[in-house]
Amino acid sequence: MDIPAQLLPHQIHGCYPGVAIGGKYELGGGDKFSPASPVNGEAVCQSGAATAADVDAAVATAHGAFKAWRTVPAPVRGELVRRIGDEVRKNKSELAKLITLEAGKIPAEAEGEIQEWIDVCDFAVGLSRQLYGLTIASERPEHQLIEQWHPLGVVGVISAFNFPCAVWAWNSMIGLVCGDPIVWKPSEQTPLISLACHEMVVRAAKTMDEAPDALSCVVQGKADAGEALAKSADVPLVSATGSIPMGRAVAQTVAARLGRCLLELSGNNAMIVTETADLELAVRAIVFAAVGTAGQRCTSLRRLIVHPDIIDKLADRLVKAYATLPIGDPSKEGTLVGPLVGKPSMEKFLASIKAAQAQGGELLCGGEQVTDGVPGGCYVKPALIRMPEQTDVMREETFAPLTYLTTYDSLEHAIELQNGVAQGLSSAIFTSDVREAGRFLSPAGSDCGIANVNIGTSGAEIGGAFGGEKETGGGRESGSDSWKQYMRRSTNTINYGSALPLAQGIKFDV
Ligand code: NAD
Repeated sequence: MDIPAQLLPHQIHGCYPGVAIGGKYELGGGDKFSPASPVNGEAVCQSGAATAADVDAAVATAHGAFKAWRTVPAPVRGELVRRIGDEVRKNKSELAKLITLEAGKIPAEAEGEIQEWIDVCDFAVGLSRQLYGLTIASERPEHQLIEQWHPLGVVGVISAFNFPCAVWAWNSMIGLVCGDPIVWKPSEQTPLISLACHEMVVRAAKTMDEAPDALSCVVQGKADAGEALAKSADVPLVSATGSIPMGRAVAQTVAARLGRCLLELSGNNAMIVTETADLELAVRAIVFAAVGTAGQRCTSLRRLIVHPDIIDKLADRLVKAYATLPIGDPSKEGTLVGPLVGKPSMEKFLASIKAAQAQGGELLCGGEQVTDGVPGGCYVKPALIRMPEQTDVMREETFAPLTYLTTYDSLEHAIELQNGVAQGLSSAIFTSDVREAGRFLSPAGSDCGIANVNIGTSGAEIGGAFGGEKETGGGRESGSDSWKQYMRRSTNTINYGSALPLAQGIKFDV
């Protein structure tokens, strides 16, 4: 696959820049790295990397940009995001190609990810005129009590390989209208798409005098670059997306300096299928949620909790649907299941299947590597495993197209199973019974950040707040009032009278 060079900064000595501070690109002093494309296992490029000192320099420059950007009126900041959205619209399919190359997504899903960026631009532009604070009734005469929302400062974004653009876009489009510059440490799997995303911001910023150059910065590298970003005292908010061990490490580093963290970590998402479910609809939702993006979405469907009267029928239909799945080169027309990101993912997929079998599971279909007719890389047949009960292997996230089926006794039992894991990201119920749906969505129902009825666990819209509970980290991004995390609240009391009454009626006359 060709690299769309027009979206990228120039290489430096055959290497893509490891540090981008606005329109200024440098190699960076860290160890260069060469990620392999999941499509064929071949090196995509060589990338420079940032050292801790490079990260500190990027943060310091972004902090300087913050001092100017925070005073630009929010609707003007929104105008920048509107222009970014225009750049993205112009380059949608070329940007998507980089996602296919570096993350292995099929074009429909890669373009969907870019569309998510466009959608969040639109959302953020509207938001730029709606960063509302409250007017609160004061207990004192001739006093006003109000709250204002002010820009917070530099936002550090650490992102995962599987949404190499959208996660940054959620954070940075909202962060920019809130008045915050962004310093991004992308996944070491996806350096090119991150540079291309950054370039779109740089190009839009060049068209506006009000926009300082260093509103967007990128620091490439592995965990050490992310650690340096998490440590930086001038980053009041670190938004980190990835595995639970990564989130735990980042949270501790940020907590040690009493900074703020927004964590979007692993899921272990379940769907309850009751005996009144529309099975036709359920099968379509299950297949997309379980095998879309080759099971490498944080919201991918991992566990199916099914009424015993329908489990055989459902399993049969799923096995038939899985038999028709086109697996292979994601850039080829018609492919629905592309590659896993790399060998460790495939090994984990195969090991989890073995573990499930040792725990009493029956492999219904798939579960093996595909080597014929694929261009290299790690391709697998999506697997379905019927389990006698919810065992240990079902409680961990295997980031691959592997879905377990088990049965439940009562709706309470089904909800208990669904909630009986450490992660709390996404969940769904398929039912035609309004009472079952209501109970699933009630305080005694799903304990996840996302709970759906008659749609799958994956494929969220940007208008809602996205994120999950428990070890998923508790963060919320994108829609609803997630913007508040990117701002600081200032509570203001204004005395327009000529007396000085104290709150709580305290007398303190001198
Ligand atoms: P990962 O945890 O290996 O890496 C994520 C990012 O963290 C990368 O940029 C990596 O370099 C960085 N990193 C790793 N260790 C770090 C440390 N100690 N300090 C600072 N940075 C560090 O995850 P991955 O394999 O890229 O992505 C897959 C995982 O991400 C899955 O578990 C998936 O569920 C999760 N994910 C969650 C969401 C969500 O919104 N909840 C979205 C996408 C992916």
